[in-house]
Parts: sequence; C-alpha cells; structure tokens
Amino acid sequence: MTNEELQAWVENISLKSFGLPFRHKAKFNARLRTTGGRYFMKTHNIEINPHQLNAYGEAEVEKIIKHELCHYHLHLAKKGYQHRDPDFKALLKQVGGSRYCKSLPDQGKKRVLPYRYKLVCQTCKTVYMRKRKVDPRRYRCGKCRGELKLTTV
Ligand SMILES: [Zn+2]
Ligand SMILES: [Zn+2]
Repeated sequence: MTNEELQAWVENISLKSFGLPFRHKAKFNARLRTTGGRYFMKTHNIEINPHQLNAYGEAEVEKIIKHELCHYHLHLAKKGYQHRDPDFKALLKQVGGSRYCKSLPDQGKKRVLPYRYKLVCQTCKTVYMRKRKVDPRRYRCGKCRGELKLTTV
C-alpha cells in the first residue's frame, strides 16, 4: 500500500466513522518500532507503522487509524484527546478503535544471532558462515563435496 492509498483510506474512515474530514497528512513510517501509529500534535499529521499491515492485516490497521483519528479530532475540537481522558475513551468506544497505539509482538526482544563460526572447504576454500557450532564431519562442501573444517570467526 502506498502513502497516497493510506491517505485516502484515512480520509475515508474519518468521514465514515467520525462524520468529519481529515485535512492533514497520513503516511507510513517504517521507523515506528513499538507503536502501531502516532498522532503529531504540532502538525496534526498521522503516521502508521507499515509492519502492522503485514502482521495484523487491514482490519486491525483500520482500528489503529481510528485510534489516531480520535486523538486528531478531539485535539482539534479542544477536547480531552489523551488516553486517560473520558472524551477519548468514549469516542474510541463509539468508533471501535483499538485501545492502544498497538504494539507489535516481540518488537525489540528478538535477538539476531551473529555469525560466530565458519566452515571452510579444504579443497576449494569456499566459506560457509554459521551462527551455531556444527560438526564439520557431518557436512560436505556444496560445490565440490570436499571436506570442511570448522573455525570461529
Ligand atoms: Zn494513542
Ligand atoms: Zn569445496
């Protein structure tokens, strides 16, 4: 989905669910890590985490957009636009937005293992990187079937 499509989608949800136009900018921001979306008070723009679309699908992202639009419309109307405000809670319930700026599962917790070992072919010198220790006698070189030797990187 492009930013233009997202913009049209947000405008559409705004009219349909809030009866009010969305007059600012909506765009994807791939650098959002822990939240599904964000509303910017200074610019009135909305950013949506594109990873949400892959992880949860359009129905969930629509709820996130509604959540951000609650911030948006309440803020512009000078009503309680923060999560703890009764205005916010009531409007969120009314339009069926997600409770939180939903986080992705396990974001930031997933550890990427570094390559710590390499298998080197004793015949053609091809190198195979490995993250975990392996028994070199159980493998052969994929190119020449030569014997492999395990070393640390
Ligand atoms: Zn929020
Ligand atoms: Zn080889």
